Amino acid sequence: MRVNRSKRLLRRARQLMPGGVSSPVRAFNSVGGTPRFIARASGSSIEDVDGNRYVDYVASWGAIIAGHAHPVIVEAVRRAAANGISFGAPTEAEIELAERIVACVPSIEMLRLVTSGTEAAMSALRLARAATGRDRILKFEGCYHGHADAVLAAAGSGVATLGIPGSAGVPAAAVADTLVVAFNDLAAVEAAFTARPDEIAAVVVEPIPANMGLAWPDVDFLSRLRELCDAFGSLLVFDEVISGFRVGLGGAQERFGVTPDLTCLGKVIGGGLPVGAYGGSARLMQRIAPVGDVYQAGTLAGNPLAVAAGLAALELITPPGVFDAFEASSLRIAKELEAAAREAGLPFQTRAAGALFGLAFSETPVRSFADAAAADHDRYGRFFHAMLDQGIYLAPSGYEAGFLTLAHGDGEIDQLLQAARRAFKKVA
Ligand SMILES: *Cc1c(COP(=O)(O)O)cnc(C)c1O
Repeated sequence: MRVNRSKRLLRRARQLMPGGVSSPVRAFNSVGGTPRFIARASGSSIEDVDGNRYVDYVASWGAIIAGHAHPVIVEAVRRAAANGISFGAPTEAEIELAERIVACVPSIEMLRLVTSGTEAAMSALRLARAATGRDRILKFEGCYHGHADAVLAAAGSGVATLGIPGSAGVPAAAVADTLVVAFNDLAAVEAAFTARPDEIAAVVVEPIPANMGLAWPDVDFLSRLRELCDAFGSLLVFDEVISGFRVGLGGAQERFGVTPDLTCLGKVIGGGLPVGAYGGSARLMQRIAPVGDVYQAGTLAGNPLAVAAGLAALELITPPGVFDAFEASSLRIAKELEAAAREAGLPFQTRAAGALFGLAFSETPVRSFADAAAADHDRYGRFFHAMLDQGIYLAPSGYEAGFLTLAHGDGEIDQLLQAARRAFKKVA
């Protein structure tokens, strides 16, 4: 596979941008090789500047759920742009996006639109601290909640890929109120509450962690978090920036029947343009300025193009049967990958939910960050390249998930599985 142009662009980009990229995992550091510079994409397929085409299972880290350059979304953005790109004033389309989200996500009665998942999580935690009058937050090792200082402790995916525990430049004071325990470790959560019964403002969690590969909550883990938060007067915050509108229209909270106090959204709800949102009960959300005393603002928040793209994307995944089809596809991928890996004699784990799947070269299911870290990441890197060489673009890190779009049909999945059978043999 010729990647001359990508190589040349990488040299140029590295002079101008750290690592040549705008976000670290894109640099291929954990898998090695040349990151592909993308020229265009359509449906399930992306094409690099050397003319190589790949079936894309990154989908802009989950933001693209309808498939690349979906004509309905492109048209919605085109139409919105023609009417003015940004106003810094309210629009009717924001109401429509908010109405759709409120109709789908059980915990959300009222929400605020922001421009990224990072902002959504940062703002939700500020609100939780204001509402409880407490400072401490409890998070789980390997769960990612964006790159705000307070949640950059033990933050999974991008951070884990770089092999550093947190980040330089985060003052000790910024994480002094952040407690970190292992995902699925209820005893540790109980101990944290017992030791500080009236100090924890919020427990923040990815209900289906997708930044340490794809992990899964034990039965009752999330409902027990709900009970503990209620018992100790803390708020439960679900970071559904990935799982929202991807494991079902109501996210993980609907799937598990556990309703958090606050929910963070991002990725899918922007249809590929920059959007985030956080929401909860009207009572809580009325604490946000200008109604309440919690300040949070954004010059481009609720941007008309992003809102139009998000609304179009949500409309495309709303018809009945869409998520049954997603789930059938992701389950098929998981089941057949597992069978093929077993045939090749490889230790292997998979998970699937809605339009999301995960894989790990591991003997044991991924229940925590320690499990994810213990997986064979060197083998993942070789598997990644064996797949890339066959035209399958997986995440360039073993700490990330796989993402489906409406454009990934049986043909694409057949191709994925066929390539995987060869790749497993190659890395065995
Ligand atoms: C991607 C992600 C974020 C951060 O969103 P950005 O838009 O990258 O700032 C937060 N939480 C989770 C669970 C994510 O996957």
